[in-house]
Amino acid sequence: MKAPLEPGATIGIIGGGQLGRMLAMAAARLGYHAAILEPDPTCPAAEVARRHMAAPYEDAEALGQLAALSDVVTYEFENVPVGAVRSLVDRVPVNPPPEALEIAQDRFSEKVFLNSLGIATAPFATVDGDSDLAQALARFGGNGVLKTRRLGYDGKGQRVFRDANPKAVEGTYAAMGGVPLILEGLVAFEKEISVIAARGMDGSVAAYDPAENIHKNGILFSSTVPADIPPATADAARNAALSIVTALDYVGVMGVEFFVAEGGALLANEIAPRVHNSGHWTEAACAVSQFEQHIRAVAGLPLGATARHCDCVMENLLGAEQDRAAELLAEPDLVLHLYGKAEPRPGRKMGHFTRLFPPGKRHLQSR
Ligand code: AMP
Repeated sequence: MKAPLEPGATIGIIGGGQLGRMLAMAAARLGYHAAILEPDPTCPAAEVARRHMAAPYEDAEALGQLAALSDVVTYEFENVPVGAVRSLVDRVPVNPPPEALEIAQDRFSEKVFLNSLGIATAPFATVDGDSDLAQALARFGGNGVLKTRRLGYDGKGQRVFRDANPKAVEGTYAAMGGVPLILEGLVAFEKEISVIAARGMDGSVAAYDPAENIHKNGILFSSTVPADIPPATADAARNAALSIVTALDYVGVMGVEFFVAEGGALLANEIAPRVHNSGHWTEAACAVSQFEQHIRAVAGLPLGATARHCDCVMENLLGAEQDRAAELLAEPDLVLHLYGKAEPRPGRKMGHFTRLFPPGKRHLQSR
């Protein structure tokens, strides 16, 4: 294994949203500089980074600058053009590996990969036209979630079918944009959970406790830790996440989302080859946050402990909800994090907060 990056080294980050901002802050705490590549000149990460290249992700000159400035390059969102990332690998170490990005960018290859590791998913079928959809819907009893294979997030590009007539789907493919789609069986899940896992350059792995997640309108509303699931289910989720990072020779932090079906059976939903919204609680309830863990991994430092010192509930602040800041800060045992975004558009993630509780008592927020 190579020696860890020395303090004063620069970590290049593709993407300058809140995740990039929190990665840059964690990098700074370990004595590193951050260089951001992100087209938006007012992006949240630029404010806390040493350098910002405000250019498209595929801009060859900006990529060249990023490679020249950085000792390692990482990314903060999974829709980074793979070609741009691959163009860097001969010039600068890139982690997590582009192969992970490639698998995660396509819901079909993601599920094939998960199943190849023995990790169950919802049943699925590719859909490249209305007749594919009719066939797949008939197979799944008229129920399913139709998703774009690529570029979907926070429930965008999705359509749910319940007791649908497979013969009455004409026009759906065109209405979804005429792009490659996947139909997943509709999972009657009891809960949604996620695991934040990490793998270091030395091959060591670590996973935080699973979080129990509630989504509203397709956007994460809250993450509660510990999740109200049997210990065997928590172990199975952690082990699945660890087998994924190991199989990919991954370096960095990954978020893995699961459905918990009736009886505790786990079905993996998706992997995010980056730090994850459902891991924000780690900055408040663990000595080493997911952000520091990621920076440690890509810098070749030892992974940190993932133990929790308390129970917690993280909630996102969307749009105008950031106006709650002063009221929230009046609460003891609450950690607030705002992203410094100028425009509080409805549904936009403006910040999050984590309420801390003594260990042993679970406090799930109402839906
Ligand atoms: P995704 O973009 O895949 O994370 O989906 C967003 C949300 O839609 C998930 O968090 C679930 O609440 C719901 N969902 C996605 N896929 C399915 C499925 N196959 N069955 C039931 N619900 C789903």
